[in-house]
Amino acid sequence: MEPLDFREMDLERLEAGAKLLASVPVAGQGTSDPCAIPVMVLSGRQPGPVFCVNAGTHGDEHESQVAVHCLWDELDPDTFQGVVIGVPHLNMPACREYSRTSSIDLLDLNRICPGRADGFLTERIAAAFFDHICPRLDYLIDVHSGGPRMDTAPIVIYREQEGSKAAARTVELARALDTELVWRAPASLGGGGGTLPQVALERGVPAVTYEMGGRGVPLDHCVREIGKAIRNCLRLAGMMEGEVAFRDRYILVDGWFSHGVHGGIYLARAAVSEAVREGQVVGEIRDFDGRLRETVRSPHDGIVISQRVSTLRPGDWTVCIGRTAESNA
Ligand SMILES: [Zn+2]
Repeated sequence: MEPLDFREMDLERLEAGAKLLASVPVAGQGTSDPCAIPVMVLSGRQPGPVFCVNAGTHGDEHESQVAVHCLWDELDPDTFQGVVIGVPHLNMPACREYSRTSSIDLLDLNRICPGRADGFLTERIAAAFFDHICPRLDYLIDVHSGGPRMDTAPIVIYREQEGSKAAARTVELARALDTELVWRAPASLGGGGGTLPQVALERGVPAVTYEMGGRGVPLDHCVREIGKAIRNCLRLAGMMEGEVAFRDRYILVDGWFSHGVHGGIYLARAAVSEAVREGQVVGEIRDFDGRLRETVRSPHDGIVISQRVSTLRPGDWTVCIGRTAESNA
């Protein structure tokens, strides 16, 4: 059966308890659109907020993509009110290639938001999201992971924004995702390009990035943890019955990414989530002739948020160390 056109769906008048497959067109190429954004729509037992779980912004992070598939399978529409929207493969060309970016234009979808409807293909995907999906949302969680090259501690990242209702809701959403580490990033982080949650928040939608896992973490574990966290957020949004679980303690961090000067093989000398001291060796880069080319040290006391588990090219990320800002975010 052909998916429905998401742009034409009236989310306030969906049949109660339905699961509907839809899509948003991006770039037609004759009879099919290989870049269309698939949208899984679960309509609860009565109208309510629209809650979106987005995945596949980066094509090689399949933990979040399969978590959305499992949510679609396992979430019973009779157990919630409102509409849950799962976008399993936002960047479909990159997901098909199992690559962070697609080979079509190599643009990082999470740095070019809100995109351009008349730009390169990845910019068009971003524009389709912001033109046709984002305006209909009350909440957005963009799920990421370390992919095949990094391992990442469970962490929520959100942008600071003063005073707005959406910003206050964003902080609550971050806490309900139930990770110990929370990275509250300044609004300016990320250089000139916008991330998906950053631009969504600028447009008034409470939005966070949720990261966990990577090559060293079993896929099934990630899928279960992501599903659990999303259900907690549905309770926060008043869409599902039950008490919202909050932690007694959150650790606020602000992150620092290290780029290797040399390419080669990365040998991590610390573990993800491990506390490290300023100057401590956290990794080494060895070249393909077996020579130690670089020793990576932590620039400050902190916690290993993410680190490489693969070979690297000159300039690639090696490790991200979060500087502990304060506890009890
Ligand atoms: Zn990512």
